[in-house]
Amino acid sequence: MRKPIIAGNWKLNKNPKETAEFVAGIKGKLADPAKVEAVIGAPAVDLQTLIDAAKGTDLKVASENSYFEEAGAFTGETSPKVLAEMGVDYGIIGHSERREYFHETDEDINKKAHALFKNGVTPIICCGETLETRKAGKVNEWVSGQIKAALKDLSAAQVASAVIAYEPIWAIGTGETATPEQAQEVCHLIRETVAGLYDQTTAENVRIQYGGSMKPANVKELMAQPDIDGGLVGGASLQPDSFLELVNYQG
Ligand code: PEP
Repeated sequence: MRKPIIAGNWKLNKNPKETAEFVAGIKGKLADPAKVEAVIGAPAVDLQTLIDAAKGTDLKVASENSYFEEAGAFTGETSPKVLAEMGVDYGIIGHSERREYFHETDEDINKKAHALFKNGVTPIICCGETLETRKAGKVNEWVSGQIKAALKDLSAAQVASAVIAYEPIWAIGTGETATPEQAQEVCHLIRETVAGLYDQTTAENVRIQYGGSMKPANVKELMAQPDIDGGLVGGASLQPDSFLELVNYQG
């Protein structure tokens, strides 16, 4: 059984003070951790505050980005080794904003996945198509290509423990959500791609999130889809109340 995982992605929002206030606002109100995993992805400058504030709660912590080298002359980068030492649980990689604005390639994302695994941090690997790709009828080849590239040379055990986030770019931050059927179709395709690359057991274990304007009003129907195991959530993760509504979607 795959445990649902709801992960916030704060992007370039919140300072350490706001981070601590957010955690104070959700303390004692998270869903049973046996039923759903709650994660917040925060900017690197907030991670230590988030880790400290989350101590004694069931909240897990994610970085929003990390480099594939652990140390050296890489000004401004974030070391996966240091993230692990700090106690970061998950590392978001390959977000479409990183791909678009910071020119990250599939190869970079694959190297980052290897570096996170080497250090014991679980990657949340993002993929997803633009509206043009969807209109051209090329979603399947685009997304499966991203998945194949991101997973290159990872072991079946690593992939089984990873999280893949399907985020159609046209639905991110736009208020436009993919229909549950559209989201399910691509999440299923991702699982089939993993089955083809590895085996059925690996495919059945890897958790697949949907991301793109997930909010309290649509979380239940998205989470009801058989291949959707969670959400990667931007806007609706910024306020404690709406984050709690998402995490507590099972009622
Ligand atoms: C995201 O940040 O990955 C995302 C899906 O954002 P939003 O929920 O705001 O669309």
